[in-house]
Amino acid sequence: MDPTPATTALVAFRACKAYDAALPAALDRLLEDLGGWERLVPAGTTVLVKPNLLTDRTPDEAVTTHPVLLRAVLQRLLRCGASVAVGDSPASAAQLARVWERTGIESVCREMGVPLLSFEQRTARTVTRGAYTYQVAADVLDAQLIINLPKVKTHNLTTLTAAVKNLYGTLPGYQKTQRHKEYPQPGIFGKYLRALLDTLPPMLTIADGVVGMEGDGPSAGTPVHLGFLAASMDPVALDLALCRALRIPPRRVPYLVDDLKAGANERLQLVGTTIEELALPKIKLPPPSPTRLLPRWLVKLVSPLVWVRPRFDTACIRCGRCVRACPVKALQLPEGAPVPRLEGSRCIGCCCCHEVCPARAIRMRQSPLMRIAHIFRDL
Ligand code: SF4
Ligand code: SF4
Repeated sequence: MDPTPATTALVAFRACKAYDAALPAALDRLLEDLGGWERLVPAGTTVLVKPNLLTDRTPDEAVTTHPVLLRAVLQRLLRCGASVAVGDSPASAAQLARVWERTGIESVCREMGVPLLSFEQRTARTVTRGAYTYQVAADVLDAQLIINLPKVKTHNLTTLTAAVKNLYGTLPGYQKTQRHKEYPQPGIFGKYLRALLDTLPPMLTIADGVVGMEGDGPSAGTPVHLGFLAASMDPVALDLALCRALRIPPRRVPYLVDDLKAGANERLQLVGTTIEELALPKIKLPPPSPTRLLPRWLVKLVSPLVWVRPRFDTACIRCGRCVRACPVKALQLPEGAPVPRLEGSRCIGCCCCHEVCPARAIRMRQSPLMRIAHIFRDL
């Protein structure tokens, strides 16, 4: 493992058209651009692999990291002589067995003889970074190297979810939803997320951009063929490079804003398949957060008129997951009601309900004022 400063802003892209027999070769070329597997993962390294296992969806729904990529990564880590485990804390932690099974992750781990860890059922340790305190899975903190395997998707709260946002799953349990309650403003939540990154061991991120998600991400958007893998030792650099490749304004991604101001975009070095060669489509983004640019006192003032809240449709199966996921108890599911009831004044627009819905019955909708005036469009 050698995340030297000279390579930390290096981001590699490689074309990879499908989850098929050609993927492992594309993965190897990608890693060669960063120095090769053997240099990055010396024999004996303790490795924790962190895929994105948000919820119990099948691989073709493009919500979770594809198992074909996970298999290829595990094969190579084992070949390097690393000591490997896979772990996550899905948003749908109460449906854990179903998440492991439907995402295809459990069968790959079984096939490869690699332990699959639920961070909820393991120990966690408290770490502090500046003003923020976290309970982070001990398996993550004790690893010598994290292999971060995000899915490239849009996100209703953070616009993009990829390298940095995937690390939110290193926090076990319901503290994830509680933090949304503590930091409802995307800018503050972004700082919290970014601070978490600084408390974690060195990591190699390999982003699954073969099929990503656009629109109403991270769980109810539309799968979109992108046809690439991307990798870096620096998750911030990787997300900035993804913004460039997918034409996402990086200032709309709250956890990138401070790095942007510090010149991180200028330090990017892209290698491998060029962005021009990838010829990526312009993906559909979720609407900007209405409170992204406003100070807290103004957010309070305008929140009755400017908001993003869930709307429920008839696909609802009354499972109650959204009710349990809501950090501010804005949802109820009374006996006989076809869909959950929202107490709008409590809602902080965190999207936790939207992320866990197994029936795609939730759409995040803008307030009438936002829809009519489009006042924050393209900011
Ligand atoms: S209703 Fe949904 S978006 Fe609103 S606070 Fe609850 S979980 Fe978050
Ligand atoms: S909206 Fe979705 S998560 Fe909520 S009760 Fe209905 S199916 Fe379950």
